Amino acid sequence: MLLRHTPKEIAHREALNINPAKTCQPIGAMYAAFGLHGCLPHSHGSQGCCAYHRSALSRHYKEPIMAATSSFTEGSSVFGGQANLVESIQNIFSIYNPTVIAVHTTCLSETIGDDIPQIISKAKADGKIPNGKFVIHANTPSYSGSHVYGFANMVNGMVQYFSETTQNRKNQINIIPGWVEPGDMREIKRIALEMGIQTILFPDTSGVLDAPQTGKHVFYPKGGVRVDDLKTSGDSIATIALGDTASSPAAKTLDTKNKVPCHIMGLPIGLKATDRFVNALRTIAGVNVPESISDERGMLLDMITDMHSYFYGKKVALFGDPDQLVGLTEFLVTLDMKPIHIVTGTPSKTFEKDIQDILGPDTKANIHLSDTFMLHQLIKNEPVDLLFGNTYGKYIARDEDIPFIRYGFPILDRIGHSYFPTVGYRGGMRLIEQILGALLDRKERDSSEEKFELVL
Ligand code: SF4
Repeated sequence: MLLRHTPKEIAHREALNINPAKTCQPIGAMYAAFGLHGCLPHSHGSQGCCAYHRSALSRHYKEPIMAATSSFTEGSSVFGGQANLVESIQNIFSIYNPTVIAVHTTCLSETIGDDIPQIISKAKADGKIPNGKFVIHANTPSYSGSHVYGFANMVNGMVQYFSETTQNRKNQINIIPGWVEPGDMREIKRIALEMGIQTILFPDTSGVLDAPQTGKHVFYPKGGVRVDDLKTSGDSIATIALGDTASSPAAKTLDTKNKVPCHIMGLPIGLKATDRFVNALRTIAGVNVPESISDERGMLLDMITDMHSYFYGKKVALFGDPDQLVGLTEFLVTLDMKPIHIVTGTPSKTFEKDIQDILGPDTKANIHLSDTFMLHQLIKNEPVDLLFGNTYGKYIARDEDIPFIRYGFPILDRIGHSYFPTVGYRGGMRLIEQILGALLDRKERDSSEEKFELVL
């Protein structure tokens, strides 16, 4: 009982987070930056922050995470970090030769109030940014929001720095995939390609954080959206932003800046959300849905039908990022499961309403902006059959003896999450496999000898 001190009684709490269901903004900014080809993320702050952010991503993706830091000392903490950043930019381009440096701030540089665009302008004026190279930035104060905000801010920065328009529309669609895994981004691109649609997906961490082992170290793997492609995003016919919290700021900026109409929708997790995504692609591009995609849908539907009796009525608790929780909740409801405790640590204007809309007005559930301590208390008060969440959920799962599926960020103690998608129809099939495996393993473990069946 590692969490034996968590009481069942829920006391009113406002100014205290215990075991947060989120992490800090720069981690999201760093992750998004890896979705740009040839990009080196740069942390404008102390070495400690950068080391933490790198290790969080390294542990989740099981890949080396390269990033630079302004390496603040006492002097820069008092007088500001301009000199450090200008020197960093010069060193990074001459030693590591990236195409883009993506600077994000930290709590310290935000508190000092460093003006990053001004510092970048100074670096440019001083000739520290070579021709054909770029420095972009995002403000990521970690005392507000979460890693999802950091991701959204960096993606927004990509649009602010790179999108251009020639006033000639190109027959292509921008897709902002939200905070999903590299395997999910690959799957989103595959679906669009299968439908014969040209897309620019950004950020795109596929081929970067799930790059193949070749025996040779490559500093900048071949994946990631290219700057030249990103520049043309201002000429696309539309932008599909997947996930309100992570993707809508960039989509709205593109709309305002280059008049590219934006369609903000949920992550395509599960049957209904994937239907909406495929339909949006179909209508915007004016194409038909190919038989291959319809077949995938049919396979998912077949799995749901075959195994429905094991899902029906099972109570579920889930925690994580709002965009993912909305998609996951809808899929669980499609399976006739009962999500009863849903907790996010990331503030979102629409989260509670979106979840309640999915559950319907007559269904009561605990939908909270809170932490995993609160989630544990809710589970103690109303136990569940299944728990979804990042690796930190395993402490609750162990103490309360609940089947547990790792989902979201970070997953520190398993592999597979970055390779196998959970979006699209195929992703739905994988989720079903995971859910069914967890539920049936438990059923078999609890079965008496006379009820232990070979075929379920
Ligand atoms: S100081 Fe701020 S930016 Fe740095 S690790 Fe802590 S929360 Fe993140």
